[in-house]
Amino acid sequence: MEVDYLIVGQGIAGTMLSYYLLQQSNTVTIIDNYNPSSASNIASGVINPITGRRFVRTWMIETLMPFAVNAYRALEKELNISLIQQTNLLDFHSTPQMQLAFTNQLPTETEYLRVPENSLQWKKYFNYPFGVGETHPTWLVNLQLLIQTWRKKLSTQQLLIAEHFSIEALQIHPSYIQYQGIQAKAIIFCNGTQAVNLPYFQKLPFAPNKGEALILAIQQLPRQHIYKQGLSLVPWQSNLWWAGSSYEWSYEHANPTEIFRQKTLQQLQQWLQLPFEIKAHVAAERPATLERRPFIGMHPYFPQIGIFNGLGTKGCSLAPYFAKVFSEHLKYGQPLIPEVAIHRFHKILAP
Ligand SMILES: Cc1cc2nc3c(=O)[nH]c(=O)nc-3n(C[C@H](O)[C@H](O)[C@H](O)COP(=O)(O)OP(=O)(O)OC[C@H]3O[C@@H](n4cnc5c(N)ncnc54)[C@H](O)[C@@H]3O)c2cc1C
Repeated sequence: MEVDYLIVGQGIAGTMLSYYLLQQSNTVTIIDNYNPSSASNIASGVINPITGRRFVRTWMIETLMPFAVNAYRALEKELNISLIQQTNLLDFHSTPQMQLAFTNQLPTETEYLRVPENSLQWKKYFNYPFGVGETHPTWLVNLQLLIQTWRKKLSTQQLLIAEHFSIEALQIHPSYIQYQGIQAKAIIFCNGTQAVNLPYFQKLPFAPNKGEALILAIQQLPRQHIYKQGLSLVPWQSNLWWAGSSYEWSYEHANPTEIFRQKTLQQLQQWLQLPFEIKAHVAAERPATLERRPFIGMHPYFPQIGIFNGLGTKGCSLAPYFAKVFSEHLKYGQPLIPEVAIHRFHKILAP
């Protein structure tokens, strides 16, 4: 079989890249062994324009957020499912310093930050001695539904190989690659944290980190907001709530831990005034990078091998825009911006 592109991995990166490559009339085959604990399958799916302790805008958000909203809306139509919902984020300040940082940022960030009306109305749900600020709009993407539905579509069109990809079976030729009976002009790795094991890319400055979350049943908590106090409470599937997350750079394994469960329970008991029940506990590694910027492009010395990775904590907003940009780069040769192009590492990628 001959295709234009062979893609490894169908998290949000592989999903969006295959979507745009197909839209541009390329032929594509995707290999993905389906991991229910991949980052995309356990992410809360929030797009938040504001970040950090100083309440500043996240990188390129003015471009990324509207693009992502339109892309998910287009996918909703194409797949006939509901994928994206506008929300706001209520940030119950955890310290007087956080309250002050928010207040200081308010006059500068008038587009996304505001003080919510009637800020005492949440007292029956939460304990918050230092007030509440609001980020608006935020967006909530159902990544899991997108990935499952896209997977079914790929499978129906016989574009999916539901297997583990094995690098030993990859043959690189000067102008094409071969993998178990498939010949493609290029292979593109969208395999998340597994990219650290690829001989072609393992020198890139990956900095994977681990995150955990509890899935909770909470009765009577209004579902049109995301709530935060260090920990985020995010509306999740089946009327449940997603409570997380941790950011660990040093860990022995990527599985859920008792330490996180106990710490989160303690935080919830102090903050949340409603009874709750734990339904599940999930964990995954985020494909993050040292510079907090994606790794995108074809290998400077093996032009038939590419990568779309390093989406870190922001896969929901980064994947749609940069998948489109990458697909256009492949089709028309339009340059990638230097912050994301793996060409910036051409020296360390030299064989
Ligand atoms: C706890 C947590 C919360 C998060 N919350 C958010 C959030 O609210 N908003 C946000 O924007 N981002 C969030 N993220 C980050 C987001 O999940 C990631 O940025 C994104 O999912 C990365 O997508 P990816 O497709 O690059 O990788 P992955 O989701 O890891 O996908 C990689 C895919 O490749 C497949 N694969 C790997 N190796 C092979 C192989 N050898 N053969 C076959 N298949 C293979 C895997 O099975 C998987 O399907 C969160 C992450 C975590 C861990």
